[in-house]
Amino acid sequence: MITPGRQVTEEACQDCLVGSGNERLRQDFPALRQKVHGKPLVYLDNAATSQKPQVVIDTIARYYLSENSNVHRGVHFLSDLATQAYEGARIRVRQFLNATHDREIIFTRGTTDSINLVAHSFGRSRLRAGDEILISAMEHHSNIVPWQMVCEEKGARLRVIPINDAGELILEEYERLLSDRTKLVSVVYVSNALGTINPVRQIIALAHRRGIPVLLDGAQAAPHLRVDVQELDCDFYAFSGHKLFGPTGTGILYGRADLLETMPPYQGGGDMISAVTFEKTIYNSLPYKFEAGTPHIAGAIGLGAAIDYVQRIGLDRIAAYEHDLLAYGTGLLSAIPGLRIIGTAREKAGVLSFVLEGIHAHDVGTILDHEGVAIRAGHHCAMPVMKRFGVPATARASLAFYNTREDLEALAKGLHKVNEVFA
Ligand code: PMP
Repeated sequence: MITPGRQVTEEACQDCLVGSGNERLRQDFPALRQKVHGKPLVYLDNAATSQKPQVVIDTIARYYLSENSNVHRGVHFLSDLATQAYEGARIRVRQFLNATHDREIIFTRGTTDSINLVAHSFGRSRLRAGDEILISAMEHHSNIVPWQMVCEEKGARLRVIPINDAGELILEEYERLLSDRTKLVSVVYVSNALGTINPVRQIIALAHRRGIPVLLDGAQAAPHLRVDVQELDCDFYAFSGHKLFGPTGTGILYGRADLLETMPPYQGGGDMISAVTFEKTIYNSLPYKFEAGTPHIAGAIGLGAAIDYVQRIGLDRIAAYEHDLLAYGTGLLSAIPGLRIIGTAREKAGVLSFVLEGIHAHDVGTILDHEGVAIRAGHHCAMPVMKRFGVPATARASLAFYNTREDLEALAKGLHKVNEVFA
């Protein structure tokens, strides 16, 4: 039997991220202790995926060691245990999002899968020729391509809210684009490529005034900002477990129950039915109608543990800490000759996307890697944003609460080195 790893308690965390900094929290992440290329790892690729605390790793190991069984099916002890743990994770997610009902929480493979579910279920059943879906110019490909696919099939049109040079949505243009043809607004809450925090309350209020539902891509918001889907009043909210210190292959689609009730299933198979004959199938109730097949049970349980972990620290505390860290990093990077930050919105979460004059982002990433500094280089699955800013790619450092000022100093030092190499 594996014993659960040490984890920070709410009491022990009273001064986490403020008085005592984050040293104690860092110890919860075994992956942060390693060296790469002989240098201590400085992990600044959190927007791609975050590292996992020991308690998440232990929860998954414990599941496979002593609880493994299929859910919702067996009459035996282990199946009951696994079902309780899986449904317990759903309750944690519901509380995390402050959704009204457990049945509004659907386990998926990730944000991509969640958006595809809405595109293929809501989109395909509602869209008619001439209808419009409204997205923004800063979307991740996973909030572009599924809509293109369904628009193409239905003869509908994808409209795009433009952004300004700082990487902020132009709200007047948004208002202008909203019309009777708009069937859904689907926008990113926090941009992975620019770090922009979008004014989603305003976006939702304007859409709702016309009775248009809104989907929020919360992939980058979930690890950084406290989310309350009732207060936001969004209709759908999608996020990935692996960016929230949980396992890969897990994600959530929150949907308002009355909307989900009217939507057809996206995939058919086991668990999503209540009765099957060759003539007709009666679908299961929510949320199981949208969870065909054996789910990622260990993953869901691991995600539940990740949510517990994050909530013990507190998202408000995380957001405040990262806000300071971002300001510090922005100052350091701004002092580097030839460096241009892409994405300078007034409201930003922990993303520093930048280009170095005359140097390809991949070269920046490779040289930094040799210094032990892990960042991302490329188009960040947001090619249209790159085009908007006239760059083929950016280098991107993205923060989590376990990052430190020293991490950002190591990044800046590495960037001076990059400049020297190319001088
Ligand atoms: N949307 C945004 C804003 C993202 O940052 C990402 C991941 N980079 C996704 C969607 C897709 O998430 P996943 O690959 O976990 O499905």
